[in-house]
Amino acid sequence: MRFNDVPRLGIGTWMMGDDASKRDDEIAAIRSGLDAGLRLIDTAEMYGDGRSEELVGEAIAGRRDEVFLVSKVLPENASHDGVRRSLRASLERLGTDYLDCYLLHWRGAVPLAETVAAFDEAVSEGLIRSWGVSNFDPDDLHELQTISGDCATNQVLYNLTRRGPEVDLFPLMRMLGMPAMAYSPIEQGRLFDGERGERLAAIASEAGLSSAVLALAWVMRDCSTIAIPKTRSPERMQENVSALDLELTDDVLAALEDAFPAPERSGPLETI
Ligand code: NDP
Repeated sequence: MRFNDVPRLGIGTWMMGDDASKRDDEIAAIRSGLDAGLRLIDTAEMYGDGRSEELVGEAIAGRRDEVFLVSKVLPENASHDGVRRSLRASLERLGTDYLDCYLLHWRGAVPLAETVAAFDEAVSEGLIRSWGVSNFDPDDLHELQTISGDCATNQVLYNLTRRGPEVDLFPLMRMLGMPAMAYSPIEQGRLFDGERGERLAAIASEAGLSSAVLALAWVMRDCSTIAIPKTRSPERMQENVSALDLELTDDVLAALEDAFPAPERSGPLETI
């Protein structure tokens, strides 16, 4: 499986695996997403100090082939030896012998060339099938291009209230043929709060959709952005899956444009 072959809705897993009383629901939610045809699962060594990876390992046991597995290395572990150590530990927790994509979680002090060399080595050993980055702004991506043209994706904060990447980052990524992964696509639930939540709910109800489904369909509207919402509820997972094949009408898109306009000029890349 390559990025271009996976459904544009994936499964986020931050804050999962931390609470024993929620474990069964979390595993059921991940499995119900896979049952519904989702393939990409996003995790990281950082999430719960490896507990998210362990949970994912349990959820995908016996069905590794169905999954496009993405994990991330912390910047402080992104040296040559650090990548090797972190990757081995992630594979162990995930109960697998390869990742489909391994991301640098955000940029740190280790020279990019050293991290890229470690990623390339892991590809040649079959430990990862591809690699990418996260939270890289256009300058970071330009610098990365001088080192390697193999970066598979850039995972960034993107939703109706965080449209900065549209100004300069996404055009650059389109030019490079690099799909985006949109994290926190419903702003960790805050998209539903307050006055902006009311505006979103009004547009959603007019369209006969829930606010979450509308927000996710909007993120995926350009066919090259993969949204990775997190939910520990099997019911919400099914609700979110219904956003996958939804084509928003011009009227709905115009109403969202009006309520959640894009910034006019570029600013620093936002992160959570
Ligand atoms: P999301 O925008 O996915 O929001 C998650 C929140 O929304 C949870 O509280 C969840 O609650 C709720 N939710 C999910 N579906 C629905 C629904 N249908 N209706 C109402 N509420 C809903 O936030 P995340 O920050 O988790 O982002 C998604 C993923 O992106 C992460 O899990 C992680 O994998 C990745 N990420 C990557 C980062 C990076 O730096 N690379 C940074 C942040 C996230 P509940 O679980 O109770 O359903």
